[in-house]
Amino acid sequence: MQIYTLFSGSSGNCVYIKDRGTELLIDAGKSAGAIEKSLTALNSSLSNIDAIFLTHEHADHTVGLEIISKKYRIPVHITAPSYDRMVSPTSSLCACAWRREVHYSTRIGSLTVTSFEIPHDSMQNVGYIIENEEGEKFGVATDMGHITEEILSYLSGCHYAIIESNHDTGMVKSGPYPYFLKQRILSDRGHLCNEECSRLAIFLAERGTRALTLAHLSRENNTPDKALSVTRQALDTAGFFSVELNVASPIITTCVHK
Ligand SMILES: [Zn+2]
Ligand SMILES: [Zn+2]
Repeated sequence: MQIYTLFSGSSGNCVYIKDRGTELLIDAGKSAGAIEKSLTALNSSLSNIDAIFLTHEHADHTVGLEIISKKYRIPVHITAPSYDRMVSPTSSLCACAWRREVHYSTRIGSLTVTSFEIPHDSMQNVGYIIENEEGEKFGVATDMGHITEEILSYLSGCHYAIIESNHDTGMVKSGPYPYFLKQRILSDRGHLCNEECSRLAIFLAERGTRALTLAHLSRENNTPDKALSVTRQALDTAGFFSVELNVASPIITTCVHK
């Protein structure tokens, strides 16, 4: 299984997964043109994508979907509350979208995709576990207001995972954002801070995770160095020196696993 973050953060999110002949996207939070350009650089194309799995309806995860649906007619899997918010009868998405329950599992080519719920201030938000026929298990969980038992139990045993390390709490508190936005980010339906991310990283490392990508970093309230050093230090202190750690760039394709 090859996994790339094409884009990550509040300016757009998209993860690309390739396993044998099967190619998937999680989210399409950039223009169709930008996503196509990134896929071309990886010798692929939107016309090769077998399915798109949406986490939630926020624009940083969905902005390219209307044009992609119109041009490529790729099946898009969306949980019901997000579907009801974003899919209108006149939308091109209407012909491609699958309205899903919060917990579902489906097989696409060589991959099995399973959803789980993540608390966030959207109509609904899900993460995904993706497994191939060789037993490789990959998980993605971002836009996490807080870590729940459900998140821990689904991500447990993933060989690779993309997890959110959104902000440094001190930077949010002392930063220029208006009070309501600070409250939103820090609430238990907002985003995950570096410290909570590092606790999740240790939990996963204890259960066999070998590589982690820190994702959905805030441009204003975090830096890649801060995010990396908090989680690296926590992993090293707990003895997990060999767990690979990298940061997803907002605009540059990052390979998390090959
Ligand atoms: Zn969101
Ligand atoms: Zn987001």
